[in-house]
Amino acid sequence: MMAVSRGNVKINIEECKGCGLCVDSCPPKCLSLAAELNAYGAHPAAYAGEGCTGCGICFYCCPEPGAITVYRMPAPRAVEASHAASV
Ligand code: SF4
Ligand code: SF4
Repeated sequence: MMAVSRGNVKINIEECKGCGLCVDSCPPKCLSLAAELNAYGAHPAAYAGEGCTGCGICFYCCPEPGAITVYRMPAPRAVEASHAASV
């Protein structure tokens, strides 16, 4: 079962060269190379739609500026605070 998503990624398929570095480096394995081709004739990276932790590893290993953007979701502070108050 995939972990709860704590992040999201957006891939600009026309900037992606399909090198696969992000796919290999993603710890929860929520990236893959798409079956379709982009304008470069490459299979661009694609996000599974869930499981991203927002770690940013894919962003740092991507050699193409603007190909991948990582969004981190805010921490669930309200849940943590109510839990802390009940113990
Ligand atoms: S931010 Fe981390 S978990 Fe999310 S897609 Fe990139 S490498 Fe995978
Ligand atoms: S590392 Fe960058 S260029 Fe390579 S497949 Fe992933 S998004 Fe595309």
